Amino acid sequence: MIKISGLKKEYKNVKALKGINIHVKKGEIFSLLGPNGAGKTTTIRIITGLTRKDAGEVFIDNIDIFKFPEKGKKLIGLIPQSINLDVDLTVKENLLIHGLLYSMTLKNIKKTGRELLKYVGLYHRKDSRVKTLSGGMRRRVLIARALLHSPSVLFLDEPTVGLDPNIRRKIWWLIKKIQEKGTTIFLTTHYIEEAEFLSDRVAFLDEGRIVKYDTPENLMKSLGEWAVDFMDDEEFKTLFFKNKEEIKDVLSEQHNKIHIRRVNLEDAFITYTGKRVGND
Ligand code: ATP
Repeated sequence: MIKISGLKKEYKNVKALKGINIHVKKGEIFSLLGPNGAGKTTTIRIITGLTRKDAGEVFIDNIDIFKFPEKGKKLIGLIPQSINLDVDLTVKENLLIHGLLYSMTLKNIKKTGRELLKYVGLYHRKDSRVKTLSGGMRRRVLIARALLHSPSVLFLDEPTVGLDPNIRRKIWWLIKKIQEKGTTIFLTTHYIEEAEFLSDRVAFLDEGRIVKYDTPENLMKSLGEWAVDFMDDEEFKTLFFKNKEEIKDVLSEQHNKIHIRRVNLEDAFITYTGKRVGND
């Protein structure tokens, strides 16, 4: 569905992308997980035509989107990190402008717009000016707007950044619902739990390189099933084990307080990148 090969981007002195390769399957939710500055936004901006690449190719539905940008544009829906709605216009008016930019007929804009606003639970606010809506509502308007022209792939750049946990979960369920309707979803996040909850597959992005990508289950299984945390010489350490039996041997050697738990996606991220990602 999405094939990214050798994508590179360098800003003045920063190599933001050092040649990334990703293959996203049709209908899956694919997450690009990485800390601030890893290159997530740059990846999305290049694919959605907002930033120029230095090298590489991207095919969506077998269409070379750099050679055929107009065709590419129609296949893609974008939910950017910043809320770029016109706040002085109403919800309905924001959708109307988007639909006209995508050469949709007025009839189609009205019909699809109505359905989508019901879908994201905002039909009752269709005539409200965007400036009167909460942050979570604005993000739902962005989702409705991005889906208006029926794209086959939806790109979401940090879809829940800055939202409180309750609203974050609502957005997660909405993203799952969109996937169920058959849309392929590519999202970036620096929230481990978001990647773990949503993704069919996750790519660990670090300093412009894909370090590893697979299903969350396989990434975790590659370390083991159980994790043991303990302090050793004032240093926090974690060891991984395939089964609880193996832990017994360590228990007998370790006199410090230990904590036994299941392996999680953060363990995999830290192991493969040597870094933690934020949880703000
Ligand atoms: P964040 O989560 O903070 O948005 P990110 O993973 O999306 O981080 P990018 O925004 O893609 O990372 O940035 C990757 C690198 O490129 C960073 O070092 C950043 O400072 C640099 N960078 C991004 N945009 C520009 C620009 N327009 N000019 C110069 N450097 C840039």
